[in-house]
Amino acid sequence: MLERGEVANSWRHERWDSLRLLTPNWQSRLPGMGYEGPEPDAYMTSADVVALIGRFADQAGTPVRTATSVTSVRPTEEGYRITTDEGELRSPTVVLASGACNLPTVPAFAAGVPAELEQLTPFDYRNPDQLPQGGVLVVGASATGVQLAAELEESGRPVVLSVGEHVRLPRTYRGRDVLWWMDASGLWDERYDEVDDLERARRLPSPQLVGTPERRTLDLNALTGMGVELVGRFAAVRDGRALFSGGLRNVVALADLKLERLLGRFDEWAETDGRDGEVEAPERFAPTATGRAPRLELDLRSGEIRSILWATGYRPDYSWLDVPVVDPKGRLRHDGGIVDGPGLYALGLPVLRRRRSTFISGIEDDARDVTDHLGAYVTRRP
Ligand SMILES: Cc1cc2nc3c(=O)[nH]c(=O)nc-3n(C[C@H](O)[C@H](O)[C@H](O)COP(=O)(O)OP(=O)(O)OC[C@H]3O[C@@H](n4cnc5c(N)ncnc54)[C@H](O)[C@@H]3O)c2cc1C
Repeated sequence: MLERGEVANSWRHERWDSLRLLTPNWQSRLPGMGYEGPEPDAYMTSADVVALIGRFADQAGTPVRTATSVTSVRPTEEGYRITTDEGELRSPTVVLASGACNLPTVPAFAAGVPAELEQLTPFDYRNPDQLPQGGVLVVGASATGVQLAAELEESGRPVVLSVGEHVRLPRTYRGRDVLWWMDASGLWDERYDEVDDLERARRLPSPQLVGTPERRTLDLNALTGMGVELVGRFAAVRDGRALFSGGLRNVVALADLKLERLLGRFDEWAETDGRDGEVEAPERFAPTATGRAPRLELDLRSGEIRSILWATGYRPDYSWLDVPVVDPKGRLRHDGGIVDGPGLYALGLPVLRRRRSTFISGIEDDARDVTDHLGAYVTRRP
């Protein structure tokens, strides 16, 4: 195993201070290692995740060469030549487990933002003290955006949140963590080859969830209740003005509708599976309120906004992969982790083999499936 940093590098160096997993402890499993602590329904901090992965690495005993960056992987007659800053290796097979979130995604028009504004991504952000006093424009309302918008608003900075497509979820439903419903109803086990629109499922933004001791719901209604102002999708910068889409109402209506459908699916499952006695009565949530006339423009030179936090997603970095298996959009071409190159495999990508693959616990089944294929490939080779 080659790792450019340390074991659990992304959890040590690429997360903000207050981050907790949005998945409950009982769900943060690694192969053969379930949660055995006293708080199965609580949410781990980044430090807890570092400790968990560290324990797993010790237990597995796989030799990890840390501080070793892979700078190139090239096909050869016998397999692959792997160049690192610590020398070269050859291998008939390579598993790409370099992560789905190596770089922040920022739209190109960010270059047009007036220079006096501070711009950050979640990779630079640690806590509110880093930002100047004054207004913050948070762009993106998925897990990262809603969590950081709440934290910045609580720090006393007025927050404007630009909202694009998002997945609304309550933290708990009928008395249970909403992710319990996903898990128990089998939704997370849906296989990649059974998903209706796989491309879309793989691009789906992370749900509006936060892991807090009080199991707080952090949807857009909760944020506006705190004082956050909602605007539509950030579409362009023109003459120092931020221009927002006028489609905010449609975007939130769609997220509300999808939530309704999901809850209906949970209710149906609870009834047919005889679980109604285990959970509380069905609930429904108020539609998302957007205010009467969300702003369509914001003058970035007026001083109202002092900084912009781009919570517009993450992407993998395959700049070191010299095998033609990455599409023009930078996505790896693979079929359930079996990459379009002999002996080349991938793990740790969204909906890789099932919906659960997007999360830490997805590795349990995915690693087994992918290594089974890899084992058969190695055996078959001349
Ligand atoms: C902000 C954020 C919050 C998340 N919250 C949750 C959550 O609440 N619950 C949950 O289950 N999942 C969560 N996830 C998803 C979770 O991070 C992934 O499912 C999991 O980290 C995937 O693990 P991985 O080892 O495949 O990738 P990573 O954790 O990204 O690890 C990849 C490793 O590869 C190394 N690497 C990359 N390129 C090279 C190279 N060229 N040479 C050598 N080494 C290299 C990196 O240093 C890194 O250590 C979150 C992700 C993010 C970004």
